[in-house]
Amino acid sequence: MSLPQQTTILIVGAGPCGMATALSLNHQGIHDIVIVDALLAGENSSRALVIQAATLEALNDIGCLDDLLSIGDKPDTLDIHHGSSRLISIDFSLLAPHTKFPFTLVIPQTNTEAVMLGKLDQLGIKVFRPFKVVSVKPSESVEEGMFEVRFASGEMIKTKYVVGADGAHSAVRNEAGVSFKDPDGDEKQDYGNLSQLVLGDVTFTSPPQIPTKTLGTFSHGNFSLFAQFPDKASPDPTCTVYRVVSSVPVEDGTAPQAPSAEYLQALLDRYGPPALSSDPAVNAHPTRIDRLYWSSRYRTRSAIVDRYFTLNPNGGGAILLLGDAAHIHSPVGGQGMSLGIRDAISLGPVLKAHIDSRDSTSSSKHFEEWGAIRRRYAITVIAMTKEALGMMTASRRVWAPLLMVGFSVLRFLGRFRFMKQMVAYRISGLADI
Ligand SMILES: Cc1cc2nc3c(=O)[nH]c(=O)nc-3n(C[C@H](O)[C@H](O)[C@H](O)COP(=O)(O)OP(=O)(O)OC[C@H]3O[C@@H](n4cnc5c(N)ncnc54)[C@H](O)[C@@H]3O)c2cc1C
Repeated sequence: MSLPQQTTILIVGAGPCGMATALSLNHQGIHDIVIVDALLAGENSSRALVIQAATLEALNDIGCLDDLLSIGDKPDTLDIHHGSSRLISIDFSLLAPHTKFPFTLVIPQTNTEAVMLGKLDQLGIKVFRPFKVVSVKPSESVEEGMFEVRFASGEMIKTKYVVGADGAHSAVRNEAGVSFKDPDGDEKQDYGNLSQLVLGDVTFTSPPQIPTKTLGTFSHGNFSLFAQFPDKASPDPTCTVYRVVSSVPVEDGTAPQAPSAEYLQALLDRYGPPALSSDPAVNAHPTRIDRLYWSSRYRTRSAIVDRYFTLNPNGGGAILLLGDAAHIHSPVGGQGMSLGIRDAISLGPVLKAHIDSRDSTSSSKHFEEWGAIRRRYAITVIAMTKEALGMMTASRRVWAPLLMVGFSVLRFLGRFRFMKQMVAYRISGLADI
């Protein structure tokens, strides 16, 4: 498929946030858009497994929610344990006064992307592949107020606006000369055992004896997460598949890029909930990982752009950044993709207002407001994930008996409705909308 020579809006990156941008623009009645991606096909890995309530609201607003709801599971609680005892059960049903979607939607990123791609297809919006952006410069003919975007393959497209949705290593961000740093200047970012996470989509030799579909567990300064895949999104329709996540103790060194079933099981045996242990001395119904469908490691790092938009110095349009191109942080709390999709959906009306405006100076205020709000929300999420990491790694800094007192306080407060509601509200992102 050959690339058009000119467009009004070029979206770089057809991950979840680039596709959400295209859907939001289409919803605003803006059709002169081109979306490109460097890869020949979308990435086929499950990565983000949850979508938060605020993002469900945003997806609903642009008519892209029903198919996701029909595939995903809607657990309304998330249990957090210390060892085998429960600290708190986060109750998303308590969000009912604030949202039509009082749950977290469990759906692998592969399925989320497939639904969005299907929607784009229905609307006649094609993703141009493989087109890897290598340069973004203001057009040489100053009066045009356009950008010239060049691709590794040699093609060039002229565009008024460039939306950089090209992920954590964004070429668009680099071309715009935008810095990407930890907001607290904490470049060392030592989160101890939580500095590295490993993830795997697995089956077990026998069903784990865990009564809930999702469970987070603290143990000896480590954290693990267990979540059951929705039946309709299982990588293997013949059996129940689970996502397991575990932190990697510092003394274990760098985790393999694609950890094996044995590597993951060894971590579950040491730090997972007893119900996932293969050791009969710990687990009355010992089980172990049987099949491994996908695994990866994830390095915890936080960074945010210093600005979300860069105006064309010759007037006209702008370069805008969103999703992982604008902010990254630990996946603890399942926030990254959800926040990025909300960046994207909120940009639609802002771009429409800019396009419709005859006075581009005053309308850049829309970008300023949008950028300031998105940056504030991202900083809040980064702070929240750092707070969670701080709690999870407290055993490295806090005297053990004191830590036990802390857990007892949390267990006590966790019984109260206001506490469950407050935690659910923070995770849901509903404070952002
Ligand atoms: C192993 C792993 C586990 C994760 N787990 C979670 C989780 O549990 N929860 C959670 O919320 N998040 C998780 N994430 C993060 C989540 O996947 C991201 O937040 C989400 O993918 C961001 O979407 P995006 O569209 O901004 O970027 P991406 O999904 O990275 O998409 C960017 C797209 O841009 C394309 N691209 C890149 N460079 C160029 C270029 N120069 N030209 C053209 N196209 C380009 C890429 O091919 C890609 O398709 C995980 C990520 C990883 C890697």
